[in-house]
Amino acid sequence: MKKLPPTARSRHALTCATCERRFFIDETQTPPFCSQRCQLIDLGRWLDEEIGLPFEGEPDGTPVERRGDPDESESGY
Ligand SMILES: [Zn+2]
Repeated sequence: MKKLPPTARSRHALTCATCERRFFIDETQTPPFCSQRCQLIDLGRWLDEEIGLPFEGEPDGTPVERRGDPDESESGY
C-alpha cells in the first residue's frame, strides 16, 4: 500500500469561478470562490441578469380581476 502525504489529500485545489485564480480549499471561507469579494461579484452578476430579464407573461399568483368588465348578462339596461 502506498501512503499519501497528508497534505496531498487535505489540500484540494480549486479554480475561482470569478477571477480564475488557483487556490486551495483550505485557503478560503467561501468556496468555490477564492475570497468573499469574488463570491459577491458572482452573486452580483446573477442578480443583474435576473433584474435585466424582460418580463414576459404574467407573474404567478397574481389574481386577475375582471370587475371592470361590462356584464353581458345584465338585463337592467
Ligand atoms: Zn477569485
